[in-house]
Amino acid sequence: MSRYIFLLIFSVLSVGVNAQRFENKFSKPLNVVLDEISKRFDVKLRIDVDTVGKVLPYADFRIRAYSVEESLDNVLRFFDYKYTRQGEKSFKITPYEYMRRTPADGEKMLKYLNTLYNDRKSWETRAECLRTEVRTILGVDNLLAKCVKAKPQWSKVRKYNGYSVRNFALETLPGQFVCGTIYLPLAKKNFPLILCPNGHWADGRYREDEQLRFATLARMGAMAVSYDLHGWGESALQVGEAAHRTPEAHVIQIMNGIRILDMLLESYPVDETRIGSNGGSGGGSQVVMLSLLDERFDAACPTVSLASHFDGGCPCESGMPVSLACGGTNNAEMMAAFAPKPVCVISDGKDWTASVPTLEFPYLQRIYGFYNAMDKVSNVHLPDERHDFGINKRRAVYDFFAREFKLDISKADESKVTVEAREMMMTKRKQ
Ligand SMILES: [Zn+2]
Repeated sequence: MSRYIFLLIFSVLSVGVNAQRFENKFSKPLNVVLDEISKRFDVKLRIDVDTVGKVLPYADFRIRAYSVEESLDNVLRFFDYKYTRQGEKSFKITPYEYMRRTPADGEKMLKYLNTLYNDRKSWETRAECLRTEVRTILGVDNLLAKCVKAKPQWSKVRKYNGYSVRNFALETLPGQFVCGTIYLPLAKKNFPLILCPNGHWADGRYREDEQLRFATLARMGAMAVSYDLHGWGESALQVGEAAHRTPEAHVIQIMNGIRILDMLLESYPVDETRIGSNGGSGGGSQVVMLSLLDERFDAACPTVSLASHFDGGCPCESGMPVSLACGGTNNAEMMAAFAPKPVCVISDGKDWTASVPTLEFPYLQRIYGFYNAMDKVSNVHLPDERHDFGINKRRAVYDFFAREFKLDISKADESKVTVEAREMMMTKRKQ
């Protein structure tokens, strides 16, 4: 028995010694290395990655005695993992995300992009490249060519204080529907239209703050239109929730926006010189795409979304590699292609849009300057607020569209809005 124990100890020691030799590339299991870093630098590591079976060559040689950050970087990059500082003594370890960079990266990219154009002419060459290549990468024309030109199915109209509401179901690809709700003003014709693609907050377009925004815009005189993300709301009943987190959702959502706009212009006497879009978070990513790819839009308001260093974390925002267009771009540059049409970027201090006042807004101002249209780009920054679509952001939306589309700001009173039950906003389309 003692002989076996001796052999066991000997073999364990041998492995330990062998693991620290040049022939074995001084390899160590990743979890052991991270544990050593944690102890050596007296930091807590929250590990949100799979370390099982991960072995790191030249493990100890990657440690920098003077810097926990450099040590973590040297260790983690081998596996495409990264760290984020959580507190003075703690870090979170997560997989590398190609769509999420740092504000410092965003700054470098914008600085580089600014070297590509110095006047309106050189900028327009670049903007045309973006429109062409993003369209091709996204593949939206292939889907639009497959769309059926079906008439929408409508629900009954519900009348409220200063506006009315109606649901629709529109068949886009054969057998595939996008459902939404339109909020109509009292005016019978020549009203502006604001398309409101949805973001990822719980309960989607059925949420109270979404309804308050759409109904208030209608009370102010615009037609506001909300619709489901692909694989959310009524779409989830048809294609399932898993369909959302796919690259296909990226292009289907843009196709839906374009087809809904086609349908609305055929169905209602909209003033086609006043067509806008507004969406928060993932809805803001759609605003950027629609503004770039559909020239019918006249004003845009991406909310808690636009950044030069983040493309949107869901495959429905970054599943197709549009940021590779024209040698590399980002949402700030794609939004700039909207110049000189009015754009208002709403940002806050507690998400990735915290950089807008110092990075993305000055960048946009420079482009708008090529058109002497600096007054057409604005930024409402709320430094103490977080990633939501709260009242101050909604007020900024009302102010922007009141200014650009000549809406009645005196009607921006959300207390007059009737919030509907989710059930009432569903079209229950006929098969
Ligand atoms: Zn998504």
